[in-house]
Amino acid sequence: MQKVLVIGAVAAGLKAASKLRRSDAAAEITVIDKGQYISYGACGMPYFVAGDVDDYKALLSTPTGVERTPAYFESVKNIKVLPGKLATAINRKEKSVTAQDVASGDIATMNYDKLVIATGATPVKPPIPGIELGNVFSMWHLEDAMAIRKLAERGKVEKAVIIGGGLVGMEMAEALKMWDVDVTVVEMQSHIFTAFLDDEVASAVEKYVREAGITLLTAEKVVEFQGMETVSQVRTDKRTISVDLVIMAVGAKPNAQLAKDAGLEIGQTGGIVVNDRLQTSDPDIYAGGDCVENVHIITGQKVFTPMGSVANKHGRVIGENLADGCSTFRGVLGTVIVKVLDWNVGKVGLTEKEAKKHGYNYVAATVAGYDKPHYYPDSTLMSVKLIVDIDTGKVLGAQAYGGGDVSKRIDIFATTMTMGGTVHDMVDIDLSYAPPFNNPIDIAVMAGHSILNKLSDRLIGINPIEAFKKLNDQNVVFLDVRSPKECEQVKLTECNNMCYLPLDQLRSKVGELNKNKEIIAFCKISLRGYEASGILKGCGFENVKVLEGGIYAWPY
Ligand SMILES: Cc1cc2nc3c(=O)[nH]c(=O)nc-3n(C[C@H](O)[C@H](O)[C@H](O)COP(=O)(O)OP(=O)(O)OC[C@H]3O[C@@H](n4cnc5c(N)ncnc54)[C@H](O)[C@@H]3O)c2cc1C
Repeated sequence: MQKVLVIGAVAAGLKAASKLRRSDAAAEITVIDKGQYISYGACGMPYFVAGDVDDYKALLSTPTGVERTPAYFESVKNIKVLPGKLATAINRKEKSVTAQDVASGDIATMNYDKLVIATGATPVKPPIPGIELGNVFSMWHLEDAMAIRKLAERGKVEKAVIIGGGLVGMEMAEALKMWDVDVTVVEMQSHIFTAFLDDEVASAVEKYVREAGITLLTAEKVVEFQGMETVSQVRTDKRTISVDLVIMAVGAKPNAQLAKDAGLEIGQTGGIVVNDRLQTSDPDIYAGGDCVENVHIITGQKVFTPMGSVANKHGRVIGENLADGCSTFRGVLGTVIVKVLDWNVGKVGLTEKEAKKHGYNYVAATVAGYDKPHYYPDSTLMSVKLIVDIDTGKVLGAQAYGGGDVSKRIDIFATTMTMGGTVHDMVDIDLSYAPPFNNPIDIAVMAGHSILNKLSDRLIGINPIEAFKKLNDQNVVFLDVRSPKECEQVKLTECNNMCYLPLDQLRSKVGELNKNKEIIAFCKISLRGYEASGILKGCGFENVKVLEGGIYAWPY
């Protein structure tokens, strides 16, 4: 009978233990965690803070409403879970772990045949003066979520500053907005979501977030927190902001010190090095979840991707291998989906800037369109950017944002990429269709068609950042082919090289356009812009581009 000890009782640790139990009825399985709360849905915490999830206990429960306590694990799974036990050292020679009882300070030695390290990650706490003041939180543990919700619910928070415009930061901005809090997000980089979106995509999301009433201060750095006992002011390098609450969300680093002290190999990313069976450099010690580094499926490089989706998959692989299975973990694509107010934002694989950095010969295309037929009641717009390797045709990455089911499109790309598929494979997938769900040609496939049109020179696109540089350039014409009524309602921008010529008049009035100028055609989503470019090319215009994503994706 093997003795398995697991350190960490949230996602990866308890998944590994539970999977092992399903395959090995006899193993003696013990899981320790320094915290009091075990097996909770950390990803649901922002929705608990927002009030969407009423009771925090829902995050600790099974779908049938049973709370996952140590007693539950003991009785249902025959797994001993010991909260409040901090692992302080791993003795690989003796095959034991030193564990300290957090409440009493008592030390115990726990033996193992196989050990699993699932210690997660720790939020980064930069050394900003005043960071120890009350009401400055890191949003990481259930206790943080409960404390923030309590303050918001009792009306104790009028103004909040969130530091960091990443996933957790933006989810928390939305959560506090639900309590009518005046929210400011301060981001040091020039954009939010800078780790996973290209600049023009991030800019479009920023425009939406600002219009929805959240103040975004990008390229701005917090330098000090001020206050007596609790924080009352945040000082940045540009201004001072009055606050009642601060949430630090500036990233996380792997909890790998325990492994490092035990002499296990640690990678460049700071995560524990594991093989594809998730064994560390000691074959009797497995590791998974946020404390390890992963292989990126596209680049083959090691990356730190602290995601619950990955941690759970790791747990399953480890559990199977502990039971003498032969399971491997293929790697990650850095897939992300996040709800930002009424928009959804997602990404998979490489961004354009990453594709460039890694030296790919790539083509990128952005399309905007409806998630389902325009006539269907709740149809809404979204934008998809796709990046493809020109040499192999393989999909390298995609980003999408807007209303509707963005995750479905991201998952179409993720599936294609996991199979090593090309853009041709992707556009051939026999996707489901009925008006309540999507269009006959899904927007993900439209993005693939756009790439194929570009590769065959039928479409020359220009992204908003490049187009913006050409505003007021007298050698360029911005050709808006929408109807006069649409143009009255919304304009792309004010500039002196704009020409309004509806698509249905373009053929008859083509003589009014100068063939020697560069023409950038567009409409609301640039579908009519693409039609216009075809008409103009047919009339002998040689320098015609389509503004990718049209007005919908214009971030200015
Ligand atoms: C606010 C928020 C929202 C998120 N949303 C998403 C999302 O939408 N999608 C997604 O995929 N991911 C999301 N994540 C990330 C996800 O929660 C983590 O990737 C996941 O919890 C990692 O699981 P893990 O088991 O590796 O580590 P953890 O869940 O961090 O668990 C590690 C456990 O190990 C314990 N531990 C550490 N060191 C020791 C020690 N020395 N001794 C004993 N115990 C120890 C810790 O107390 C902790 O309980 C979110 C995270 C946060 C904070």
